[in-house]
Amino acid sequence: MNSEVRAAVLTAPGSLEQRDLPDPGQPGPGQVLVRPEAVGICGSDLHYFDGDLGALTGDSDWFPRVLGHELSAIVEAVGEGVDGLRFPVGCRVAVWPLETCGSCYACSHGRENACYNMRIIGVHRDGGLSQRLLVQQGSVFRTSITEPEIAAFAEPLSVAVHALARAGITPDRPAGGTRIAVLGAGPIGQAVVFAASAWGASTAVVDPKQGRRAMAQHLGAELGLGASAGSMADELRQWGDGFGPDIVIDTTGVPSVLAQAVDLVARGGNVVVVGLTGGSAPFSSGVLPEKEVSIHGASCATRTDFASAVRLAETHQDSVAALVSHVVPVERAKDAFALAHEAAAGTMKVVVRLS
Ligand SMILES: [Zn+2]
Ligand SMILES: [Zn+2]
Repeated sequence: MNSEVRAAVLTAPGSLEQRDLPDPGQPGPGQVLVRPEAVGICGSDLHYFDGDLGALTGDSDWFPRVLGHELSAIVEAVGEGVDGLRFPVGCRVAVWPLETCGSCYACSHGRENACYNMRIIGVHRDGGLSQRLLVQQGSVFRTSITEPEIAAFAEPLSVAVHALARAGITPDRPAGGTRIAVLGAGPIGQAVVFAASAWGASTAVVDPKQGRRAMAQHLGAELGLGASAGSMADELRQWGDGFGPDIVIDTTGVPSVLAQAVDLVARGGNVVVVGLTGGSAPFSSGVLPEKEVSIHGASCATRTDFASAVRLAETHQDSVAALVSHVVPVERAKDAFALAHEAAAGTMKVVVRLS
């Protein structure tokens, strides 16, 4: 084995370099050595790329870093205690990127995705934009998905699955008849529409971009509305039999949208906030008891959600493939970030291909 591996390294905000890094070596007990094949670029990667993460936390220890938390990979070797029959060398896996402590309050209450000591692969430690990566065996999910780009989408799909789980929708408790409005039709919004529709919900999507609304409708949304249309709230209410949607999922990351979501949702309904923001917006909290609305935060995904996402992607590979708008070779990883940043019409998920 070579003593160095090639990686796309973010050395400082906006500066991505191809570098040779020390080989991670053979897997230790409970570890799996993988060769990343495809890495999706996500909104949080763009914040990282721009240097916003450090600004958000006041932490300067963010560079250099190998990004990549949405990844598919091939198993190269397994360490002691890892079942080689479950993970034979050469099999494709999707990687759940959270490393959790297993013992904090959140972990011991089945909420490991909110772990106090969480480390995210590709955020807190080096991630998928590298020729080799060591991960814990609990992070790898073997999959029969045929294309690496589709397998990499299991991660954003797991975020959507988790958002739905927060509002009580799971594969075991399907959503027959439930009306779900999704605010924002970027990759996560699309994934919510897709998963909810696949599980029997009726979905509507709100986004200013016509192309994104059309994509969501292709994936199962019954209704696509422009965000600024004055009649949007009325139309959504009408669609919800005059009462509003049972569930509103905000994927926009725009703080003022929360007030809108609470306004739109039916009395007694659920609002889920997925979009990240460092901002705040005025919000009249009296509407919560008045309408008895429940607001849930949703962060990343549990292992169970991730497993559901992998299964969902396996059975709907064409739908997921439609969400991958660009595949860029790793040598041009910088272009992938530029494309994702630009977010031109027709850009959805940009994926970097390693091998
Ligand atoms: Zn992501
Ligand atoms: Zn924990």
